[in-house]
Amino acid sequence: MACRKNVVAIDGPAASGKSTVAALVAERLGATYVNTGNMYRAVTLAALRRFGDAGLSEEDVVGMLGDIELEYTNVGDGAFALKLDGEDVGMEIRSPEVAKFVSKVAAMPAVREWLVKKQRAFADEGTIVMEGRDIGTVVFPDAKRKFFLSASPEVRAKRRLAQAGECVDGATISSVAKEIAERDKRDMERPVSPLKKADDAIAVDTSDMTIDEVVDFIADNVEGGAT
Ligand code: C5P
Repeated sequence: MACRKNVVAIDGPAASGKSTVAALVAERLGATYVNTGNMYRAVTLAALRRFGDAGLSEEDVVGMLGDIELEYTNVGDGAFALKLDGEDVGMEIRSPEVAKFVSKVAAMPAVREWLVKKQRAFADEGTIVMEGRDIGTVVFPDAKRKFFLSASPEVRAKRRLAQAGECVDGATISSVAKEIAERDKRDMERPVSPLKKADDAIAVDTSDMTIDEVVDFIADNVEGGAT
């Protein structure tokens, strides 16, 4: 049998609970947690700072990649530090402005290539739990275990509204649901590495599950399943 990478891949649409769950699964398995969405957000932030929201051309963004330094460091217990040119941008990448433009930047093939290379390097360091949109399909098609999380649009909007740092004055469930739906549509319809369940991923609808139930389901499956 082909060698399967020591990777647990967790994919799914926006606000499906991936980040919370993946960090806890990593803690339970003693693995490194890697959040790839935050990497796409950091590149988007860098581009917005340089070019503004009217100037996000693929040419400009791709030209910028050689000039920026992105450092993702695990600090244990499911926490990590994300530095852009030495500055901690962990809070700023959660802004509504970044959320609005991230799927445009993430659709640029050269941006994906640049980040996927960094993401693959994490597997050299031991067991990892990596979450995103294309981990099971593109980044690690040979992952040991793959999960695809989903939840109803209403549940996802409620979760996102409750998430610290991403509340906008005047935001309602329906306005947040609209933002999430637009981003998911762009993520699913892009030609390169679209958001998609891998054929061999286990689908988990988390709408009626608690965080602990989802974590138990995934961790038990990884720990107890055949290799
Ligand atoms: O996970 P999060 O919602 O923070 O991701 C932000 C955006 O980054 C997604 O909407 C998507 O456009 C992009 N992304 C991606 N591939 C990944 C992770 C995130 O395209 N593996």
